[in-house]
Amino acid sequence: MQACEHALAGNGEFVVDVHTHHVMPDGPWTKNAPDTVQLVLGMVPSCGASNRLECASRAAYLHDLFLASDTTVAMLSDVPSSGAADAPVPFLDQLGTQQLAAQLTHGGAPRVLVHNVIAPNFGDLRARLDEMESAATTGNVAAFKVYTAWGPNGRGFALDDPAVGLPVIQHAYDLGVRTFIAHKGLPLVRFDAAHNRPADIVAASRIFPDMQFVVFHGAWDKNHVEGPYDPNAAVGIDTFLRALDDHGVPPNDNVWVDVGTVWREVLRDPTTAAHTLGKLLKRVGRRRVLWGTDAIWYGSPQTQLQAFRAFTISHEFQDLFGYPALTDTVKSDVLGLNAARLFHLDVHASRCALATDPLTSARTTAAHLRADGALPAAARPNGPSTRREMLQWLAAPATRWTPL
Ligand SMILES: [Zn+2]
Repeated sequence: MQACEHALAGNGEFVVDVHTHHVMPDGPWTKNAPDTVQLVLGMVPSCGASNRLECASRAAYLHDLFLASDTTVAMLSDVPSSGAADAPVPFLDQLGTQQLAAQLTHGGAPRVLVHNVIAPNFGDLRARLDEMESAATTGNVAAFKVYTAWGPNGRGFALDDPAVGLPVIQHAYDLGVRTFIAHKGLPLVRFDAAHNRPADIVAASRIFPDMQFVVFHGAWDKNHVEGPYDPNAAVGIDTFLRALDDHGVPPNDNVWVDVGTVWREVLRDPTTAAHTLGKLLKRVGRRRVLWGTDAIWYGSPQTQLQAFRAFTISHEFQDLFGYPALTDTVKSDVLGLNAARLFHLDVHASRCALATDPLTSARTTAAHLRADGALPAAARPNGPSTRREMLQWLAAPATRWTPL
């Protein structure tokens, strides 16, 4: 049994990436959703394929996450759409990815979890609720996810409004899907800014105390530099923390946060990175911060993972702002154990099953193939990714990281 603990990633770590993506390079969305194609092409690094969407295909996904990174379990997401005709990974294709990964795994331990992205404000609500039901009856929906800032004619919706939001959450609850995710912050094309704010999901958490609510991106905005908590901030993570205060949500309650894209971006600057992680851990709670990377938009998440392992919050910042120390325990919780609790994963059984599965065994071969140029190299880091680079970077907080 001890062998299981040590086999994964060489150190027994259990890494659950709750926020990952790929596309179907030949799907109908490539014709029906040109804006989405541009969005994806703007993020995906080149891998040498003539159709660059192939660099974010299902095969690339399995490679970048499970062969080129220490990720143990990934949750597959998608971007805004109005349904299967313009979604880069329609729900049935998500299930296909999940099944393919399961075929490469022993013992039934899950490699890929799926959340179903729904767009309940398009068309007839009754029809949307029926789609939720047919997805849920597959038994493979770990959560529902919405983009509240997305909708017909550029108009979004609020999760605490009785017309769309509340019936949708109630339906999820009735279907037994008790985890609900919303993208907040990180504005995308044609987003309705008024409905991109986090107060509605926090309000919903008070109405549905038996459900778990995950705020993807934590309302972070690329155009705003994160500092110590400012309750009067008009944008960014502080608007989320303010909503927690306004609604009296204590730390470690039923509101969670994912750091997809956020960590990758803030790790360019050590002070911003410390405030971002520090205030999320302090206020949302160290048992409620979830590891997410938005892989494979930026290639393999391995460099983000290495940077997180090496990162520390200084004693000075702990004293000044009340941030917790980034101990190994806190890091293990954030990297996987928190998500394991949320999604009821049996960490020990998964470790044992996955330690000897074909994906784990193929990691060495894949590394050789990358070294030989037969597979594309894992993506370029966006910040320090070795312990030595991290120490240099922490020692010079005025220096912004410049990728090589
Ligand atoms: Zn995403």
